[in-house]
Amino acid sequence: MSILKLHDLYFKPFIQKNEIRAIVSHLAKQVKEDLPKNEVPIFIGILNGCFLFAADFIREFNGDCEVSFVKLTSYEGTKSSGNVKQIIGLQKDMTNRTVIILEDIIDTGNTLQEIYNIFKNKNTKQLKVVSLFFKPDVFRKELPIDYIGKSIEDKFIVGYGLDYNGLGRNYPEIYQLSIPPKMKNIVLFGPPGAGKGTQANFLKKMYQLVHISTGDVFRFNIKNQTELGLLAKKYMDEGDLVPDEVTINMLKAEVEKNPDANGFIFDGFPRTQSQAEALDHFLSDKGEQINAMIALEVPEDTLVTRLLERGKTSGRTDDTDEAKIRNRFNEYNTKTAILKDYFEAQNKYYGINGVGSIEDITKRIAEVFDTL
Ligand code: AMP
Repeated sequence: MSILKLHDLYFKPFIQKNEIRAIVSHLAKQVKEDLPKNEVPIFIGILNGCFLFAADFIREFNGDCEVSFVKLTSYEGTKSSGNVKQIIGLQKDMTNRTVIILEDIIDTGNTLQEIYNIFKNKNTKQLKVVSLFFKPDVFRKELPIDYIGKSIEDKFIVGYGLDYNGLGRNYPEIYQLSIPPKMKNIVLFGPPGAGKGTQANFLKKMYQLVHISTGDVFRFNIKNQTELGLLAKKYMDEGDLVPDEVTINMLKAEVEKNPDANGFIFDGFPRTQSQAEALDHFLSDKGEQINAMIALEVPEDTLVTRLLERGKTSGRTDDTDEAKIRNRFNEYNTKTAILKDYFEAQNKYYGINGVGSIEDITKRIAEVFDTL
């Protein structure tokens, strides 16, 4: 889940699919348990917001029931009565029946009040209310709500049927209103030796970004013989990837060190799909996102020559041996290149020709960055 932009506003992930599923299924079970055996209730969904909730709830209910939907609409009443609500779609005879209202969200309770007013003359056997979400801080009524899926703070939410000006109903998760993203974050991507480090140095100055190279952070830790360094060394020496959990935690710690950054250049991260997903979650929790993956594309033989050359002076043990270099390419091709698809699917992949002078390549990257 990453942040959403709907019309002029930004929303960040709030409640995941599996949590929603658990809440809905729990509600349906409770409602079922509380009904007398063989009771056939009439479920009344309040449109539009409840359509996904009602569909999932009714599937989980696991018993005979009738289902109907109504919609509350405002119309201008006489001057004395002001703005009056009317209900459309309600044709059923509900005399002596158990009627269960399905609401997606109850905040002030105004809508619920209208519904109560309408249903109180219907001679039902009982009237119950199920609401997926409830905002206790703004609820102003004395009305009973029999079942609440989840109480939430008073922030605007969208998704799973709920909209902002018509948009957002289609998302299977719930998102919460968030401030606009402040950062521009890029993933600088490319095989070992493509020139990511060199380019990152120029970019960070041009755009006041923070450059995080996971390889550099690991090497720093190895040099200082930290616990992390000792752990990473055996993988790095062989050109293998350090385990995701270690790398992801380290990356998060590096980001947290720079809360006021204009943005980050992620270099050498993410390298696996699960790192990419972890990064998306981590950033979207802050209302931020990856704006682009900028990939330097360079032929492999050019890279081997560059790396062996670098190995003569860099002191990097993984740069001196062609077999180890080839292993890093192998890692890149088998694990890392999947990320191209990952970002391409989000329309965030930008391939850049990585052959040419350093300045030319910087210019090519800047052209992309300026459009973000
Ligand atoms: P680099 O300097 O980016 O070429 O990285 C050098 C080595 O550090 C890699 O071969 C890995 O052993 C380790 N490493 C760097 N970044 C990551 C990452 N995102 N995930 C796992 N291992 C990494």
